[in-house]
Amino acid sequence: MSTPTVESAHPSEVMIRLEGVQKTYVSRDGARHVAVSDASMTVNSGDLVSLVGPSGCGKTTLLKILADLHDADEGMIEIGTAEHPFEPGRDVGMVFQQSLLLKWRRIIDNVMLPAEIIGLPLREAREHALHLINMVGLTGYENKYPYELSGGMQQRVAIARALVHNPKLVLMDEPFGALDAMTREKMNLELLRIWEESRKTIIFVTHSIQEAVFLGSHCAVLTSGPARMADYFPIDLPYPRTLDMKVTEPFGVYTKHIYKLLGMA
Ligand code: ADP
Ligand code: MG
Repeated sequence: MSTPTVESAHPSEVMIRLEGVQKTYVSRDGARHVAVSDASMTVNSGDLVSLVGPSGCGKTTLLKILADLHDADEGMIEIGTAEHPFEPGRDVGMVFQQSLLLKWRRIIDNVMLPAEIIGLPLREAREHALHLINMVGLTGYENKYPYELSGGMQQRVAIARALVHNPKLVLMDEPFGALDAMTREKMNLELLRIWEESRKTIIFVTHSIQEAVFLGSHCAVLTSGPARMADYFPIDLPYPRTLDMKVTEPFGVYTKHIYKLLGMA
């Protein structure tokens, strides 16, 4: 897309390089299904990349490749640098569409889970967990159980949990997809605030074009049939973003571009 180059919100080093990444699933009867093809992008540390596309276009597959849960069949994947090597087990935090909190654990103990699994020193991790609970606006809820919180609050807990082990990369797979529209807009603003504060690199999957443009410093558009990355471009809208930006002309230019790529305009 012919947009001016955007200054990264947190200018820094290259964190992820994908070049021509491809993944094909082969079913038991031998049928082949190309889930991701020709995915190429360069992500700087501190970027917030929206990954947008229709259901089934390979968004989750691409996240799984980044999390090292799946191998790609072809292409180049580089995450981290020689100076800052990347270890998927420790350096990835994930947030899913459902909060997936353990219902028998209090909020603080849910947030602590990754730290316990990795074996971090518990006292420091607990302090960090309390800081994160504060950052997601849930101070006072530490000792509650998940059922005592609303859906939006549970997703905030999931975000805090994804950050507790201080990962370099946060992968979010439609994290607000199950929320009502107004809660979702509030959570978008919250996420931007948390991103500014934590300075994490975030890959955010959504099938909402509006959400992709509103959040992203960059946007990758995936299409299905055949699966491919149709475009990857910076979103040159200033931060902090405000909801009224959604009705501005530049915002509309980006959404229209994505609609066109998806064959909807
Ligand atoms: P999205 O997250 O964009 O909805 P996915 O990455 O989950 O898409 O899936 C992409 C395509 O690959 C879909 O058509 C899906 O049915 C197929 N797929 C996903 N996971 C598997 C799997 N483990 N085995 C076979 N096919 C799969
Ligand atoms: Mg998915």
